[in-house]
Amino acid sequence: MSLGHRYALSRRGFCICCAVAAGFVRTGGWLSPSQAYAEAQNIVDLIRDDAAKVPIKVHRLRGNVSILEGSGGNIAVLTGADGKVFIDAGITASRPRILEAANGLSRDPIRHLINTHWHFDHADGNQWLNAEGAAIIAHENTHKHLLVAQRVEDWDFNFPSPPLAAVPTEVFSSEKTLTLNRSTLALKHYGPAHTDSDISVNIPEADIFHCGDTYWNGIYPFIDYSTGGNIDGMIKAAEANLAAVTDKTIVIPGHGKPVSDRAELSAYRDMLVAIHENVARLKQQGRSLDETIVAKPTAAFDAKWGQFVITPALFTQLVYRGV
Ligand SMILES: [Zn+2]
Repeated sequence: MSLGHRYALSRRGFCICCAVAAGFVRTGGWLSPSQAYAEAQNIVDLIRDDAAKVPIKVHRLRGNVSILEGSGGNIAVLTGADGKVFIDAGITASRPRILEAANGLSRDPIRHLINTHWHFDHADGNQWLNAEGAAIIAHENTHKHLLVAQRVEDWDFNFPSPPLAAVPTEVFSSEKTLTLNRSTLALKHYGPAHTDSDISVNIPEADIFHCGDTYWNGIYPFIDYSTGGNIDGMIKAAEANLAAVTDKTIVIPGHGKPVSDRAELSAYRDMLVAIHENVARLKQQGRSLDETIVAKPTAAFDAKWGQFVITPALFTQLVYRGV
């Protein structure tokens, strides 16, 4: 087994991006993704089992916007007379706790769901939210990925095609603006970044900006090359996010501490740029992936950013592939 395929993983919740952690929990050791999945047998059930237990934490922001934390990616909810708008759907097993938390915000029915991208930990709940009455809005590539089975190579995992009720019904290619609950929801495609389907959601009246998985707050991000992501696109997306917000904006990351700001976003961009430079230099010197990992190009950042499931070695591998 090459060093580049050994991932040390810790377990602080489940998501598609963290899914291999389940294998680690069972064996308590270093595993390749395929070994982890062989151990995990049915990763989707494990993720659902975990989501079935984790409590949902509510963060009330402003302008009738709140965050629900604890079911895959960070979910934002806008309440009001036009009905609730969800930004991301979390994992289906959390349904009763998400509903309880959402009912605690207001009694408005759920009318709209926006997917920031196609990944399971952001779109698994699409079907039940649609059954509640939500129209599903997403980028056309999210629609494309949710229509058919998907494979994420880095996790050696095949996701089956979801039921039709989980497939977005309103799609766009570049930008789309909704006006609901006296708020503007400006949706914008990033281009290739974490996947090829990522969008940001800007709510200017509340000055709140949801970055989806182009921003992981305080933790190394996953980059899904299997469905169109790459490190250059992640850096471009971080730059676009910085250009879109001010020091007063509340910035919502896809993962990590859910209430963030421009300063933290800026530190994230700086981390991506520095590691990109370090890995590119080593690769240009002719170092193999294993030699690059041994050279520890992330060392200056590991204490802060390397404490989640995307370990320094795995993040180095994700960057190495794209430079
Ligand atoms: Zn994702």
